[in-house]
Amino acid sequence: MARTGILRTASTQKAERVKLITCKGCRQKTQPFQPGAKVCSETCGATFARLLREKLERIDAKAERLVDKQKLEKLRPLSYWRKKAKSALHAFVRERDHGKSCISCDTILIKTGKPGGDYDAGHFRSVGSAKHLEMDVRNIHGQCKQCNNHRSGNVIEYERRLRIRYGDRMVDELLADNTSRMYRKTDYQAIEAVCKQRLKDLKNG
Ligand SMILES: [Zn+2]
Ligand SMILES: [Zn+2]
Repeated sequence: MARTGILRTASTQKAERVKLITCKGCRQKTQPFQPGAKVCSETCGATFARLLREKLERIDAKAERLVDKQKLEKLRPLSYWRKKAKSALHAFVRERDHGKSCISCDTILIKTGKPGGDYDAGHFRSVGSAKHLEMDVRNIHGQCKQCNNHRSGNVIEYERRLRIRYGDRMVDELLADNTSRMYRKTDYQAIEAVCKQRLKDLKNG
């Protein structure tokens, strides 16, 4: 009886000794270097240690980049956020008015993918004289570059056609609107997010 017990123990130990592992160094199905080891040789041990170290370095570098990005975003001036909001807003307006005529002449606004864009998002009440309406969608419309850049916004026609397109009430309200607005970073971020979403919705029809 005792003999059988010893034999059984010996065979169990032997079975444990030959239990195969997937070496963490060479990725082969093989015997461990020593019982309980995760690698098949010292060389693979060194490889495994290097892989682990590299993985940790990658995680560190990623975390560092994230912190840098957050620091950078904190340092950005308000003008940075304003610019981002403006660009998203204008992209939305250009898409909204695509296929319509210029807000101040008969030119049809079509995108051909020209660098710098085929037409602009032009302000009715100019940013120079009505800064508070800079981000107001009622005040911005698709406009051909000719009208926007070479006819000073073609304001008289802009107003006439705006009244036809949206009605007198909207235009009168816009002309009477002198409420000052204070935009903070979060306001600009919200404008950017909303405009990007609206643009996406328009593109998805
Ligand atoms: Zn190995
Ligand atoms: Zn025009």
